[in-house]
Amino acid sequence: MKIINESGLDLTEIEGLLESFYPYAQETLRFDRHPVIKFVSDPENSANVLGKTAHYDPNSQEVAVFVDNRHPKDILRSISHELVHHKQNCEGKFAQMPKLGEGYAQSNEFLREMEKEAYLEGNMCFRDWEDEYKRNLEENRGNTMNNLTEEQIRTIIREKLKGFLAENKNFFKKGKKVLKESKLLTSTPRKEPKKPKGDFLERIYINKSQEAAKKFTKKFIKK
Ligand SMILES: [Zn+2]
Repeated sequence: MKIINESGLDLTEIEGLLESFYPYAQETLRFDRHPVIKFVSDPENSANVLGKTAHYDPNSQEVAVFVDNRHPKDILRSISHELVHHKQNCEGKFAQMPKLGEGYAQSNEFLREMEKEAYLEGNMCFRDWEDEYKRNLEENRGNTMNNLTEEQIRTIIREKLKGFLAENKNFFKKGKKVLKESKLLTSTPRKEPKKPKGDFLERIYINKSQEAAKKFTKKFIKK
């Protein structure tokens, strides 16, 4: 696949997605030649609600996609549609097309069938790829978590919690109030152990009986 970006816009996101979508489409739709995919810009066309979205040229095997103001998914779906036309071209279907001179209805019917196939297969191909792509993303996310060290996981959880708490300050205040009212949360102030006052001797006088204190002092002085 060759991508030519003529739009002058930064399409790295779409190009990145195409790296995954294009091989998938080639395998699903089964075409043997690589087309050229051209991104084009046409502000006048984009302003028109019924403007063109993309087209395929069977002679140059080029898919041209208009990219102005379009969601990446929409652009990829367009490409998927045009890739079905490319497949039809690879199968020689364009050459089988009845000439307009042979009757409008006949060639019209032929084109309608080609178009039907492009809509159906193009949309399904894109949808199936999208499902698989999302599934892979989820799995990769899981793997990344598995490769983290405990400290990295802790940091992630801490950051997430911080964010959550910052966003839900009022929620927690309210939650606490509700719990208190329902008596599920009883706030019993924790008792701090009293620190003994005074120095060593004073403490003995306070804590022991006077008598014991005297004894102790005598003993202390003798030594
Ligand atoms: Zn078409």
